[in-house]
Amino acid sequence: MAISRELSSSIRQRIADLLALAENQRDWRYALAKNYNALGLYADFGGCLALTPDGEVLEILDDFSGPIPNQADRFWKNLALCQGSKIYPELAVLIDPKPETAQTCRWCNGTGRLEAGHSIQFSEIICRCGGLGWEITKSSDVHFSTKDAGIRTRKTV
Ligand SMILES: [Zn+2]
Repeated sequence: MAISRELSSSIRQRIADLLALAENQRDWRYALAKNYNALGLYADFGGCLALTPDGEVLEILDDFSGPIPNQADRFWKNLALCQGSKIYPELAVLIDPKPETAQTCRWCNGTGRLEAGHSIQFSEIICRCGGLGWEITKSSDVHFSTKDAGIRTRKTV
């Protein structure tokens, strides 16, 4: 993914900031910064996604096989960038623009957040839309399919 020099510099600085504070060593993002020179954007039970200063999205699975550049499909990249931009707002420019065929997400009504009842909000549970608030339902323009949500596997060659 091509990114601007300014954004690349910002990612480098975010990585340096993570590594500069000893208190960050318990943060999962610290290990990604230290081991892969990448900014952690998203983590789940299967692994995590991180962004390098060159704009590569690394997928690091929990099978200790090491990072895989550009393995994540558009859905996972957008999810990672959407979630990561909540902490690092400058990354929002990397999220794919909403296609004309996209519709408001039927699961979160466009908020990107799942809610249960009126008083409890599950801020840590990400909607099937990846937090974008929209989804593609037309099969010929697949950007996001609900069947892919929540399932991340290594592609075989
Ligand atoms: Zn949604």
